[in-house]
Amino acid sequence: MRRPITTKTLVWALVASLLFYLSARLGMQVFALQPSNMTLLWLPSGIGLVMAVRLHWLAAPLILLASLAANYPGLAAGPGEPALLHALVAAAIDSLSAVLGAWLLRRKLPSGLFSARDLGAFSIYVCLLPSLLGGGLLVANLVWGGYLSGSAALQLLRPLVLADGLGILLVYPLYQAWRELSWPSPDDWAWVLLVAAGNLGLLTLSFNGYSGFIYFILPALLLLVVKVRLHGVYLVLLLSMLAIIAAAAQNIGPFRAAQALEAHFMLMGFVFTNTFVTLSLALYYRQLQATDASRRHWQSEALHDPLTGLLNRRAFVPLLFNEHQRVNRTQRPFALAMLDLDHFKRVNDEHGHGIGDGVLVQLADLLLRHVRDIDRVARIGGEEFAILFPESSAEAAAQALERIREALAAKPLDVDGRLIGITISSGVVDFHGGEQSTEQLLHAADAQLYRAKDGGRNCVMRADVAVPG
Ligand code: GH3
Ligand code: MG
Ligand code: MG
Repeated sequence: MRRPITTKTLVWALVASLLFYLSARLGMQVFALQPSNMTLLWLPSGIGLVMAVRLHWLAAPLILLASLAANYPGLAAGPGEPALLHALVAAAIDSLSAVLGAWLLRRKLPSGLFSARDLGAFSIYVCLLPSLLGGGLLVANLVWGGYLSGSAALQLLRPLVLADGLGILLVYPLYQAWRELSWPSPDDWAWVLLVAAGNLGLLTLSFNGYSGFIYFILPALLLLVVKVRLHGVYLVLLLSMLAIIAAAAQNIGPFRAAQALEAHFMLMGFVFTNTFVTLSLALYYRQLQATDASRRHWQSEALHDPLTGLLNRRAFVPLLFNEHQRVNRTQRPFALAMLDLDHFKRVNDEHGHGIGDGVLVQLADLLLRHVRDIDRVARIGGEEFAILFPESSAEAAAQALERIREALAAKPLDVDGRLIGITISSGVVDFHGGEQSTEQLLHAADAQLYRAKDGGRNCVMRADVAVPG
C-alpha cells in the first residue's frame, strides 16, 4: 500500500539523508583506522535501511545522492579514476543494498524485529546478506577503478561487512523501538542517563590502564534491560559501542592498535557480543513482560464477571475456602450472604434485557458501596450475588444487608432514563469454626435466601431470625 508523500515525510527524508551523509563522514573520520582508512563502523548502512523501510523506492535516489556526496572526495583524492564514475557506482551499491535489506526485512520479518527469535533471521537476511553483497560489489568497484589490488580487496571485505552489519544492528532496532513506543518517561530518562554516565566512567577507567573495566559495560546494559523500555536500552547500547569503537580508532583503550589483525578481531568480537547479548535479552525480556501481562489479563478475565466486573463463582469459592481455613485457626467468625433480585424476570420482560443488564450493573455498584473494603462481593449466577464478610457475625452482616435492602426499596434505579423499582431478598449465615464445610455453608445461606423468598421477598433472613423488612 502506497501512502501519499506528505510534507512531514519529505522533511523526514531530508533529515535522514543529511544524517546518512554526516554519519558517513563520521565513519571516515572518527571510526576509521589510519593509515588504512578502514572503517570499523558504518552507520550509514543502518540509516539507509531505515530510509528504505520508511520511504520504499524513494529512498534509493536520496541514498545515492548522500552517498555520492560522502564518497566522492575520498575517491577523488585516491589513486584510481575516474572518481565520479566509481563514486556513482559505490553510491548505487549503497542504495541498492539498503533497498534489498528493507525488502528482505519485509519478507522475512513482516512485523519487524519483534522477539529474540527474530534476531537470527534479522542478522542473516537484513545485516549479513545485503552487507556481503554490497561489500563484495564495493570492493569489486574499487579494484576496477584501480584503487585497490585484488589481494587487498579480499582483506578489506571482512571488516567492511562487519562494519556494515554493525551499523544495521545498532541503528535499525533503535529506530523501530522509537517508532513503536511512546516517548520515554522521566524515570526511563533517569536510568538511561545514569547507565550512560556509568558506562562512560567504565570506559574512561578502561582507557586509563584499567582495561578490565570495559567488561562491566555489559552488566550495566543488562541492568538497563530490566529497568527501561527498548528504546532506552538501544540508545545506551549505541552510544557505548560508538565510544569503544571511536576510542579504538583513535588508538585509545584496551583495543588500541585495532589495525593489527588480532586486536581488530578482539574489538569486533567484543562489540558484536555486547550488541547481540543486549539485543536478544532486551527482546526476550519484552516478550516475557508481554506474556506476563497477557497471563494476568486472562487470569483476571477468568475470575471476574464481564458484565459487572465483580468476582465470579470461580474466584469466590476459593476465597470462601481460605476464610473457612482461617476461622478454624483463629476462631474469629465470618458471615456469608446470598442475595437474589426479586421478580427480575419481570424487569426483563417489561423493559428488555439491556435494561435488565443495566440494573445488574447498578446493583453491583450499590453492593460495593454498602460493604467494607475487606468484604468480597461476587456475582455467582444470573441475578444472584454472594458476599463474604470476614471478621463478622451473621448479625452484623444482616445489618449491612438490611441497609442495602432499604436503599433499593427506597428509591428506584435510573437505568438509561427509566426508573426501575426493584427489591432484593437475602439470606445470611456465619461460621465460628467447626465441622461445617464451605459447601454446607453455601447451602445453609441458600436455605436462608429461600426462606426470604418464601417469606414474601424484600427481606433479610439469618439462621432462624428474620430481620423485618
Ligand atoms: P424470584 O423473585 O423468584 O427470584 O424471581 P425472578 O424472576 O428473579 O427469578 P427467575 O429465576 O424466575 O428468573 C431470573 C431471571 O434473571 C431470568 C433471567 O432472564 C434473568 N437473568 C439472569 N441473568 C441475566 C443477565 O445477565 N441479564 C439480564 N438482563 N437478565 C438476567
Ligand atoms: Mg430472582
Ligand atoms: Mg435467581
